[in-house]
Amino acid sequence: MHKVTEGVYFIQGQDEFIPDSHVYVIGKPGTGDLSVIDAGLMGKGRYKIDSILKEGIELSNIKRVIMTHTHLDHIGCLAEIMKEIPHAELWVHKSEAEPLEQGEEKNVWGMDMFQSMCQTQYGIKPGAFKFRVDRMLEGGETLNIGDMAWEVLHIPGHSQRSIGLYYRPEKILIPGDVVYADYAIGRFDLHGASGAQHKESLLSLAELDVDILLPGHNRIVENVQPGYILETAKQWEPYLT
Ligand SMILES: [Zn+2]
Ligand SMILES: [Zn+2]
Repeated sequence: MHKVTEGVYFIQGQDEFIPDSHVYVIGKPGTGDLSVIDAGLMGKGRYKIDSILKEGIELSNIKRVIMTHTHLDHIGCLAEIMKEIPHAELWVHKSEAEPLEQGEEKNVWGMDMFQSMCQTQYGIKPGAFKFRVDRMLEGGETLNIGDMAWEVLHIPGHSQRSIGLYYRPEKILIPGDVVYADYAIGRFDLHGASGAQHKESLLSLAELDVDILLPGHNRIVENVQPGYILETAKQWEPYLT
């Protein structure tokens, strides 16, 4: 686990033949009101929990898990993590929360071929990704958690209803898989995705001042150059229709 700044910790994903999403832990230490952002791939729950414990964070201080979106590489080990912190709430965007509650897994798998491949590889049974969601997010709200005010951004396109989190005082953006370092963006061909929406989402993120970019995969960037997201959007614009 790497401390990005006071109140923001980074746990690097451990990719296998499928990527494992990064996890972020946000909230000022000492408040006892921390949030885990995303979970990761199947089998990575122990690693994520151990990383948190190694930092000296007590699991009782983790009050919730907030999902940027519900793709398999982010939600795969959610059940493993929830088993370790059963008191924690689950917060998800409304439009991805409702299918989760109904056990509808299209958003999780993204495509049918992937579903059959992973169910075989990992021995996953249908219905493995049914969760009760404690708070349905919509975008536009501000979450006062751990003595920090995080803005919820509605940034669909990569998945049906991805969200991002933005901490304005320190210009920190957690965009899920919408935008990565090195002018890369998340794929926009899976179930519920839309290139046109992805473009709009990138353009809305480009309006934010961002110094620290904490994406769902690949490297994090702690000194983002001005205009980086706009430049990324421009490079991808011809493909985002
Ligand atoms: Zn994704
Ligand atoms: Zn991902």
